[in-house]
This record gives sequence, structure tokens and C-alpha cells, in this order.
Amino acid sequence: MFRTRFAPSPTGPLHLGHAYSAILAHDMAKAAGGAFLLRIEDIDRARSRPGWEAQIYDDLRWLGLDWPEPVRRQSDHLPDYRAVLARLWHQGLIYPCTCNRRDIEAAIAAPQEGATLPAGPDGLIYPGTCRGKPRDPSQPLPEGAALRLDMARALAGSGPALGFTETGQGATGETGWQAFTSTDVITTIGDVVLARRDMGTSYHLSVVLDDAAQGISHVVRGADLFEATRIHVVLQGLLGLPTPVYHHHRLIRDEAGKRLAKRDDARAIATYREQGATPGDIRAMVGL
Ligand code: GLU
Ligand code: ZN
Repeated sequence: MFRTRFAPSPTGPLHLGHAYSAILAHDMAKAAGGAFLLRIEDIDRARSRPGWEAQIYDDLRWLGLDWPEPVRRQSDHLPDYRAVLARLWHQGLIYPCTCNRRDIEAAIAAPQEGATLPAGPDGLIYPGTCRGKPRDPSQPLPEGAALRLDMARALAGSGPALGFTETGQGATGETGWQAFTSTDVITTIGDVVLARRDMGTSYHLSVVLDDAAQGISHVVRGADLFEATRIHVVLQGLLGLPTPVYHHHRLIRDEAGKRLAKRDDARAIATYREQGATPGDIRAMVGL
């Protein structure tokens, strides 16, 4: 059974890139006789707005898409994410981190002497400053701090070979079985943040838990998230969740070849609608 989803964050208007992603996922589900779900990824309470969420429903319906109700909203599931974090904490797999970006840069830069700082799909590769600090996993999950995954420990129980199936393409054309090793993950991704201090969770943790909770068999999303998929596969293994098939698609760019951004109102679906475009015009603009 093919089950996919579109998972926008209500932090700005939907633009042509979102329209492409949503229509493609919807069309693929239709063609496979499967289901297309909608999920609102609103864990960033500071940037999410009910008005943007309402506009998302309105724009997607106007595009001719439909989905089962009720729509899953991540802000309704914070206790679920915290429960999983508590489990990982008691297993000794996550630790609080009080470093800010400057601390991390300073810790990396010292031995690197002005070279470009090593970064992975989740930003700078964490030098491990807080990993060795004393902690007591028999205590309750620490509140009010960022929580990082101890990647080496998290992967200690997994076999050396990890991977996922890519039916679309990564940013540099990767397709088919994507194999990687735990050593790759430890050295090129490192101790990712599983709970941000200001959110109590993270994109990576919430997306993995929700894809599993919603029974997603195929994740259709932009190639900008291809690299993050390795993080998601690691978390699925750690939490005993199935790994879906991934289909990363090309990104819609502006005339200058730049990726569309949320603040790029000129390419907002709402703007095209005001100017009299039809849903068919939007499909043509994104090449569908
Ligand atoms: N919420 C993410 C975004 O707006 C998409 C997450 C995903 O599809 O995995 O970019
Ligand atoms: Zn730290």
C-alpha cells in the first residue's frame, strides 16, 4: 500500500516549490491507488501562525488536492516526542548540551586553525564538549536544555551497514539503494540535536515519529532533505520503526537559479491566484 504525505510548516505562504512537492506526492499516491496525507509541522511555535495554516488548506484545496481528516498537527503531539526523549535519556543515549554556536565554533576552530568548519546535514559537526559531563539517567529527562544524541552509542547496537531505497534523486543524482556505515554517520553527521531548547523536540525526531505514526510507506520531498535522510534512518533503527522508501525530487528555482524561500512572496501560490492563474497554470509552471 502506497501511503505518502505532504508536511509543510505554517511559517509563511506556500510557493511554487511547495505546490510541486504536494501535487507530485498527491499524483503518485493516486497513480498507485494509495493515500495522500497532510501533516502540519508546527513545532516551531515562534514562527508558526494559524493564518498560514489556514492559507495552506485553502491553497491546496484550490490546487485540487484532497486528504483525509483530521490532519495531524505536530504541536498536538509534544508529549509523545518528550516520552520518546525520556526513553532515550534513561537508556543513556542523549545528553543535555548548553553550547551556543559560538562555543561550538570555538571548540572546533582551535585544532582546525582557520580551515572551513566541518558541517553535516544538521549543521556544524558537534565537537562533543558536553558529552562527557556527568549525568544521571535515572533522574527525570532534563528540561530547558537542548538534548543531543550520543551518535556513537546510538549506533553501537546496529550492524555496520545502513541504508535506504531512493526512488527519486538526491542533490547530485543519487538513486537506488543508498548504503552508508555507522562510521560515516559518526564522522560526517555526529551528535545531532534531538530536542531544541526552545521547541522541546526537533524536526528530525518529530518527522521520524510522525511518518511511522501515520504509516507512511513513501516519503516524497525536496532533494534538499536527501542528506538528512541518513539521520532519519538512524533514528528509525534506534526506535524500532520501519524505514519508508524515499523519493526526493528536484527543487523549483527562480530565474536566477536560486531555490525559492518562504519569504519569496512573488512566487506564493496566493499571489498567482490573485493574478488570475488557474491550478492548471501552476501545474504547467512547475512542469507537471
Ligand atoms: N516540514 C518540512 C518543510 O517544511 C518538510 C519535512 C519533510 O517533508 O520531511 O520543509
Ligand atoms: Zn554542548
